[in-house]
Amino acid sequence: MRTIFLLFIINISILTTAQEIKFFGEAKPGGLVIGTGENIISAVLNNTKLQIDKNEVFLFGFDRDASGKYLLKVIFKNKKIQTYEYIIEKKDYEEQHLRLAKKYVTPPKKLRNRIQHEALLMKSARIKVGKVKDAFFMEGFVYPVDSVDIRSTFGLQRILNGKPSNVHNGLDFGGSEGDSIRAITDGIVRIAGKNFFYNGNFVLLDHGQGLTSVYLHMSKIIAKDNQKIKKGEVIGLIGETGRATGPHLHLGVQWYKKRIDPMSLFEIKF
Ligand SMILES: [Zn+2]
Repeated sequence: MRTIFLLFIINISILTTAQEIKFFGEAKPGGLVIGTGENIISAVLNNTKLQIDKNEVFLFGFDRDASGKYLLKVIFKNKKIQTYEYIIEKKDYEEQHLRLAKKYVTPPKKLRNRIQHEALLMKSARIKVGKVKDAFFMEGFVYPVDSVDIRSTFGLQRILNGKPSNVHNGLDFGGSEGDSIRAITDGIVRIAGKNFFYNGNFVLLDHGQGLTSVYLHMSKIIAKDNQKIKKGEVIGLIGETGRATGPHLHLGVQWYKKRIDPMSLFEIKF
């Protein structure tokens, strides 16, 4: 009698072991995908093991120039494995021609030390990224400005003063000097940088599992280093510090080193 009872329980537990993963977001160049489910042991994208937080949430992103086949393997507690295949088609981006002060295209020698030093500060701030596996981003995403006026999209190939230059790795919002800049989701301030040559005044937020957002060219920084920030909280004010052609907010998003289109976050609805 007792044995039969035990078997019954085991059977129920097998039947109720969920193996469905819910996905949010889109697998595309510059896209971000969030997965969540139950009884997950691990999730691996190609050969990279993804972080999983206490609510069984994981995240992965595709670089601006991503293409080809990606395989996501999710292993469950009952040892079952689910695989998901993504075929990413390479995306072409438009060119953007800009005229800038010469020092911003080819910085003079005397500025090299300063630029190098600032790059090191940024690097040491980014080293801390990926150490937090909490999915702060599950709070959802909001625009960083109150009135949305997109001036320059993500991924444009820039031609500065007639010369092919860096790619536009972010999304530009128009605004007036002093307008509020808000955190797109919960996070921790990894660096509140003052008066950097390219970035001007800026804030870098860590949203967990390698996801970051950076807000450039602020007239004023309000957030402090290591501060915990809530979605929608004001972290600075719009300005034109650093390499900017007028007051605007440049919002950059990365998943580790992969360049993510910020717009792909705002399209996610939980
Ligand atoms: Zn920009």
